Amino acid sequence: MQCPKCDNQISPFKVWLISRWTPLKCDKCGTLLNRQIDRQFFIISVLFFAGLFIFAHTFSSLLVWLLLVMLIDAYTIRLVPVDRQDNTRNSA
Ligand SMILES: [Zn+2]
Repeated sequence: MQCPKCDNQISPFKVWLISRWTPLKCDKCGTLLNRQIDRQFFIISVLFFAGLFIFAHTFSSLLVWLLLVMLIDAYTIRLVPVDRQDNTRNSA
């Protein structure tokens, strides 16, 4: 993951910390970042819930699946500064 303002590399594991109500803060420039709600987010959500159904009976498989989805998410996520999220929605 990368900060859209200063190109600072952000640890992929911090993707867990991002939610609609808790933006991620860039270590370098302090910009509050949130995920862009676009096709990427939709695909990740589908993968996430598909895994919950498919692997619900085996905890270890489910754990591997969620970790995999998290990694895909971390490398494909588009971060946007919180204050500009509404303005950039149409460019997705
Ligand atoms: Zn930054």
